[in-house]
Amino acid sequence: MTTAASALQPIFIGGAWRPGRGAPVVSVNPVDGSVNASLAGADASDVAEAVERGVAAMHAPAWRNLLPHERARIIRRIGDGIAAETETLALLQLRDNGKPLYETRGLVISAANTFGFFASALETLESEVTPSRGAFLTLTTYQPLGVVGAITPWNSPIASEAQKVAPALAAGCAVVLKPSELTPLLALELGRIAQAAGLPDGLLSVVPGTGAVAGAALVAHPDVRKISFTGGTETGRAIARAAADKLMPLTLELGGKSPTIVFADADLDIAINGVLFGIFSSQGQSCIAGSRLFVQRAIYATFVERLVARAKQLRVGDPLDPQTHLGPLISAPQRAKVESYVELARAEGGRILCGGRRPEGAAFANGTFYEPTIVEGLSNRSRVCQEEIFGPVLVVLPFDDEADVIAQANDTVYGLACGIWTGDYKRAWRVGTAIAAGTLWINTYKQFSISTPFAGAKASGMGVEKGRTGIRSYQQEQSVYWGLDEQPNPWANAPQ
Ligand code: NDP
Repeated sequence: MTTAASALQPIFIGGAWRPGRGAPVVSVNPVDGSVNASLAGADASDVAEAVERGVAAMHAPAWRNLLPHERARIIRRIGDGIAAETETLALLQLRDNGKPLYETRGLVISAANTFGFFASALETLESEVTPSRGAFLTLTTYQPLGVVGAITPWNSPIASEAQKVAPALAAGCAVVLKPSELTPLLALELGRIAQAAGLPDGLLSVVPGTGAVAGAALVAHPDVRKISFTGGTETGRAIARAAADKLMPLTLELGGKSPTIVFADADLDIAINGVLFGIFSSQGQSCIAGSRLFVQRAIYATFVERLVARAKQLRVGDPLDPQTHLGPLISAPQRAKVESYVELARAEGGRILCGGRRPEGAAFANGTFYEPTIVEGLSNRSRVCQEEIFGPVLVVLPFDDEADVIAQANDTVYGLACGIWTGDYKRAWRVGTAIAAGTLWINTYKQFSISTPFAGAKASGMGVEKGRTGIRSYQQEQSVYWGLDEQPNPWANAPQ
C-alpha cells in the first residue's frame, strides 16, 4: 500500500487542522482492502502540543467562567451536530470498520444522545452542603481534574469517544483524544463538529497515531491528569503501570469473556435470538460479546441444534446490504487471530458445529470476512474458553444446576457482563447476583442506556463510565469549610 505524502490528511490540534509529525495512519475499508484515507499521524511532540493547548484552553476565562448551563449549551450543540449528520457519519464509519449500516447508524445516534444526556446532567448535577459539626458551613464542590487523555479502540468509533469526551467536557476538562490507528476518521469528524458547535479551541484535540507512540506519550505527559481508556486488558495494565508513577486516576474499560446462561425453563425462541445477537453482532468484536454459552443439560441437544440451524442462516456480506448480519472483521491480523483460535479449538478437542472458515465467492475475495462459528466439546478451562477472541466464535457448554453454572461462569479472569435466560425471576436474581459481572442482562442481552452506569469487574476494568454521575469521574472534590464564628478560633478545641 503506497500513500503519497501530499495526500495525507490533517489532524486536529488546539483548534488547528495540520499534518501530524508522526508516521502515516491509514484507514482501510475491510470490505475490499481499499484505502479510505491516509493521515499524517501524531507523534509525541504533537501530543505535547495538544496537551499544552488543552491546559491553556481549560484555564481561559472563556471556558472556566462559563456557568454550567452555558457549558451545557455547547455540549448539547455538539450532540445536535452529530445527529444532523447521522447518515453521513454512519456510512463513513461503515467504511472505517466494516460494521453493518444498522449498527453504525445506532452508534452515531448513541453518540449524539450521549452529548445530549451529559448536557442535561451538567445542568442538573448539584454540589452538596454537608452536615456541619461546628461553627462553619461545609460544602463539597467539584473542580475539573485537568487535561484528560481519552484512548479508544476500533470497534465502536464515535460512541466510545462520546462516552469519554462528553462527560469530560461537562466536567470542565480539556480532552486530548487518541482513537485507534485503525479507525481514526470518526474521531476527527467529532473534532470538526465540536469546533462548528462553538467549543473553544484547544478543549478537544484529536491525535490519531499508534498506541506505542501517541498513546504512550499521552499517558506519560505530566499535565495529563486522567486517562480514560477503552481497550484490551494487557494495554490497560501497561497504562496502569505508567499511571502509578504519576499517581494519576484512571478509568479502564477492558476485555471480557462473558457467560450467557440458558435454563430449561426459558422462552427458547427469544433466548436463541438473544444468544445469536449477543455473540455475532459486530462480528463478535465486542467487549461484551456473550462468547461462552452455558445451556442446561435437559435442553442442551435440542437448543444447540436449533441455535446452529439459525446461525447457519445468518448472512455474512456487504455491510451496506440491509440483509447483512455480519460484515467483515476489522483487519487481516484480526481475522488471523480468530482463525488461530478456531484451530486451537480443534486442537483442544472441540467440534466445529458451524462456520470455522472464510466464506467463499468473489464478493469476499478482498475482504476480511469470517463465518459465524459455534464450537462444542471444550472444557471451560480450555484456552478457547478462557481467552478473549474478539471475533464471531461461540463456545457452547452444558451445565447441570445453579451451583454448577455459577462456578463455571465465574471461572474466568474477566467480569464484564453476564446474560441469563429463564422464566423464574427468583432464579434469575439468585444466579445473577452470584456472578461477578459489571452488567447483568436478564432475558435480554447487549441493551444499553447512557443513563445506566457501565463498569467491568475483575480484569474487565476499573472505574465507571456513563450515568449521571459519570461527570464526577473527571472532577476533583473540593471540601469547603466556611467559618461563621464571631469569636477567634479556639486553640486545640476542634469539634468532636
Ligand atoms: P488495544 O488495547 O490494542 O488498543 C486500544 C487503544 O489503546 C488503541 O487506541 C491503541 O492504539 C491504544 N494503545 C495501545 N498500546 C498503548 C499504550 N502502550 N499506551 C497507550 N495507548 C495504547 O485494543 P483494541 O483496539 O485491539 O480493542 C479491542 C479490545 O478493546 C478488546 O480487548 C475489547 O474487549 C476491548 N474493549 C473494551 C470495551 C469495554 O467497554 N470494556 C469496549 C470495547 C472494546 P493503536 O491501536 O492505534 O495502536
